[in-house]
Amino acid sequence: MHSDLEQLLILQDREQKIRQIGIEIETVPLRRKSLEAQLAASKASVEVLKQRARQVEMDRKKLELDVGTRTETISRLKTQQYQTRKNDEFQAIGHEIERYENEIRKIEDDELELMVLADKIKADLAEEEKKAAAVRESVARQTADLDEKSKALESQLQELSKERSELAGKIDEDLLAWFERLFESKGDAAVVGLEHGVCTGCHMKVTTATASQVKAAREIVSCENCGRILYDAE
Ligand SMILES: [Zn+2]
Repeated sequence: MHSDLEQLLILQDREQKIRQIGIEIETVPLRRKSLEAQLAASKASVEVLKQRARQVEMDRKKLELDVGTRTETISRLKTQQYQTRKNDEFQAIGHEIERYENEIRKIEDDELELMVLADKIKADLAEEEKKAAAVRESVARQTADLDEKSKALESQLQELSKERSELAGKIDEDLLAWFERLFESKGDAAVVGLEHGVCTGCHMKVTTATASQVKAAREIVSCENCGRILYDAE
């Protein structure tokens, strides 16, 4: 093989690795965001239940007050009732007392329902808090893994970049520029093997003249179909 080609192949290997690592590094912030979103969602579910529990407690207290005012009214009415000498007024007050007592019973039924609901919310909240603790633990672990992975990728990238510039320094400037342009435009490889007369970059057959030039390995030859630089891979 042409010695320039050997160097280009090593360079290409490092460039491909750099590209792969770059893609992986790019996913890091996204993965971090997704972990943060998991944590926020889990916190929000806990908060919703806490808010619901507070609301139910407020509603229950309001009903308690409603019972209190009616109880006071009843005792006031009872005093009035004892004081009256008129029979029809006594009976009228008695009906009013009955009306308030019925209201109190209804309110107390509602209160009971709210207490049952509060118990259910409390149980749901305990369950949700347990889940949230598990999510926190898992997210913390995954974040630590991600930090470690990210650090490792950065140091690999540094190492490879150093290698790349060392390799690039040994290659002819024009050839290097040609290689870089090809590598950039093709996206996968600039230097590819020729197998049984077929370019492994574009999978097309090259002319016999090109194939024999590649075999001779005296100069840098490119595929007439895709422009990639060819080496003899047979
Ligand atoms: Zn080709």
